[in-house]
This record gives sequence, C-alpha cells and structure tokens, in this order.
Amino acid sequence: MAYQIAIVGAGTAGLAASIFLKRDGHDVTIYERFPSARPVGAGLLLQPTGLAVLAALGLDRAAIQAAAPIRHLHGVSGTGRLVFDMHYSDLAPHLHGLGIHRGVLFGLLHRAAVAYGAQLQTSSCIAAADRSGPRPVVIDEHGESHGPFDLVIDAAGSRSALRLAHADTKFERPYPFSAVWGVCRDTEHLFRHDTLAQRYRAARGMAGVLPVGQLDGDGVQSVALFWSLPVAAYADWRANGMAVWQDEVAALWPETASLTAQFAQPDDLSWARYSDLVLIQPYAAGIVFVGDAAHAASPQLGQGANLALADAWTLADSLRRCSSIDEALPDYAARRRKPVRFYQMASRWLTPYFQSDRHVHPWLKDVAFGPMARVPYLNRQMLHTLAGVKTGLFGSLDPGEWHRDYSLRRT
Ligand SMILES: Cc1cc2nc3c(=O)[nH]c(=O)nc-3n(C[C@H](O)[C@H](O)[C@H](O)COP(=O)(O)OP(=O)(O)OC[C@H]3O[C@@H](n4cnc5c(N)ncnc54)[C@H](O)[C@@H]3O)c2cc1C
Repeated sequence: MAYQIAIVGAGTAGLAASIFLKRDGHDVTIYERFPSARPVGAGLLLQPTGLAVLAALGLDRAAIQAAAPIRHLHGVSGTGRLVFDMHYSDLAPHLHGLGIHRGVLFGLLHRAAVAYGAQLQTSSCIAAADRSGPRPVVIDEHGESHGPFDLVIDAAGSRSALRLAHADTKFERPYPFSAVWGVCRDTEHLFRHDTLAQRYRAARGMAGVLPVGQLDGDGVQSVALFWSLPVAAYADWRANGMAVWQDEVAALWPETASLTAQFAQPDDLSWARYSDLVLIQPYAAGIVFVGDAAHAASPQLGQGANLALADAWTLADSLRRCSSIDEALPDYAARRRKPVRFYQMASRWLTPYFQSDRHVHPWLKDVAFGPMARVPYLNRQMLHTLAGVKTGLFGSLDPGEWHRDYSLRRT
C-alpha cells in the first residue's frame, strides 16, 4: 500500500528513510529548515552496521571510494598506557568501519533521495504537528499547514520540536562535556590512514584523529580532528584564541601541531553539545521518531549515525511487512528497542571514563581497559559493541554474515 509521508529533517535518518520509502512506492516530502540542505559537523565513523544499510541503499561502494576504510582503533593515555588497540579483522576478516566526511555522506544520500523522486522542501522549519484530525498535518514556523499525511516521520535530530510535543520522554539529560571538531589535512603524513587514533588526559582532555579519505584528490589524507571540552569552558576556549588551544593539544599529542595549525579561528571548528535522550515509545498515532530525535546519546561509541541508518531501514521494512501504519509503528519500535537501549546504556556508561571531571573512572580506564581487551571473551564483546552488532547485553548479530542480508538474524 502506498502512503503519503512527511519527513521532518534532511539529515542522515531522514534522507535514508526517504530513499527506502520512495523505492517502496510511497509519496515522500522532506521538510528541511535550512535554505539548502547541508551537513553540520566534520566527519564520522560508520560502523559495519551503517555500511550494511548503505549497501541496502546501493551507496556503499561510492561511500567507500570517497572515504577512508578504518580497520583499527588505537587509544593511548597521557601517561603512555595503551587503552584501546582493536582490529575489526579480529571479528571477521572483511569487516571494517568507514571514516567519512559528513558532506560526502550527505551528498550521497541527498543525490539518491532526489533521484528516487523524494520532494525536498528547504527553508521549511516545522514547528508543530496537528494529529487531532484523521490524518496528521505539519505546520511550519510561519503557521502554514502542510498535508494531510498518512504518517509524519520526525528525523529532526536531538533538538526536535515535534518530539517535545508528541513523544513521551522518559528522560533527557544534557552532558556537561562537549566537543569541537573540524576537518583538516595530514600534509606531513603523520597519521595512519586506516586508524582512528585517540589520546586521553584523564577524562578532562581528549583528542581524536579520524581519517576521512583523500578529499582533494591530491594524495593527501583529510582527517577529522576532535577535541573534548566542558560545555562551561567553551566561551573561554573561544576568547583565549587558537594559540592557547594549539599549545594545549600539542602538550597531549605533539604530532597534532600540523593539524591544529590549520584552524585559524574558533569558527573554523564546529561545536557539538549532546544529551542523553530516552523515549518511552518512539511513536504515537500518525507520528514516528527516528535517529537522534528518538535516541540522542553522547558520541563516545560513535554509533548515532549507524543507529539512524538502521532506524530508517527498519521503519521502511516494518511499513512493508505490516498491513497498516498502526501495525507497523509498534513493529518498528519492538525491533529497534534492544539495540537502541544497549547502545544508549553503553554510551552512558562509558562517557565518565572519557569525558568527565571524575578521577577514579579515567584511572580505571588507563589501568584496566588494555588488560581487559586481552581477555578473549571481553575483547570480542568490545569488538561487537564497536561494530554496532550488539542487540543487548548478551546478544549480537553475526558480524560475519549479517551484512550480506540486512535481516537482523541473531547468533
Ligand atoms: C562530536 C560528535 C561526533 C559524532 N561522531 C559520530 C560517529 O563517529 N559515528 C556515528 O555514527 N555518529 C556520530 N555522531 C552522532 C551523529 O552525528 C548523529 O547521531 C546523527 O547525525 C543523527 O542523525 P539524524 O539524521 O538523526 O539527525 P541530524 O543529523 O541532526 O539531522 C537532523 C536534520 O533535521 C533538520 N531539522 C531540525 N529541526 C528541524 C525543523 N524543525 N524543521 C525542519 N528541519 C529540521 C536539521 O537541519 C538537520 O538537517 C557524532 C555526534 C557528535 C556530536
């Protein structure tokens, strides 16, 4: 059955959902608040789960060509202790993540959505939805109504306006730490092109370098640089000027000096704050929530875009296999519940080890994470968690098989 569907937000979740839904013959209109749909932020690490969804969209090869396959995660504390040394190949020989510029991922999804015929309405900031009639309508910031639709998909990210009005929120807690991030070039070839590398100063300082591919086609690898800082310290960070920051990062990780030097002013880096958002149900009659609008979390495990892609795939599949929208929304919610809960819990649990003012947590991380990873069972659990295949504390999808058929079989 073909439905008329409104999607609010042309981010990862909204664009991916629009492609799946257009392919299934639905009539899809995407509303995006920006004048031209655009990506915000620097680069992100897609996990094998996210890559499997890109494969289902027919976009994985183009993504891999335009980005950097990541095979290894390497994290070292300020005192030189090895915290992480994980290889995807220990899970299955062909597995890898993908360091990708947000603009590249956005461009691939956006082009495909338009090619499949999704209608994209830009400069359209949706402020409300009215679900009082038989079919919902969305209302923009100028008071104009759009619709009616059979279904509204809220893919407006962590600050979604519709979620506040239409979802039962269990809790939403902003994190006291944030990150600045931007893309620069590894002109001195100091960083491995297949490795996400991190350095930690207790839990108060953290730098990360993620390769995102040769964006300029001149043999030089572009990398996304992340720097963690308390939300309350951001105003001072801006006011102090770049030299103070560059010295601080170099004191933790001298090799990054040639990277930080490429940022001339604070606005060259994006500032990201995040919160922990748990909904009681990711749907109500006529409306459903996907991506960060449904389950924002701290980016400690780098799973947000992967979860958003998996949400999009699952929602389209539920609409396909159920005979009505009223049946499909609980089906979607039930299929996403366990993996989403697990990754939210794991991100919440891990955050104090990497971004906090605490003393015991970072100390434990420095002394225990390395030895823990040498215990085969724990190493495998850590790799499953990283790869995005966990379905709960003890459950996992089969990482060697499931990417061939996104059918969410369990081991
Ligand atoms: C520092 C940092 C690092 C991260 N690293 C990773 C990583 O390595 N791997 C990973 O998988 N994830 C990572 N994430 C998480 C990831 O960025 C998000 O989970 C993902 O972008 C969520 O996608 P989304 O489509 O749900 O929301 P968004 O990408 O936020 O898209 C929402 C869209 O909705 C639009 N919109 C908002 N409000 C309205 C409105 N009222 N009307 C119309 N349009 C609206 C916005 O303009 C935007 O285009 C990271 C996040 C941060 C902050």
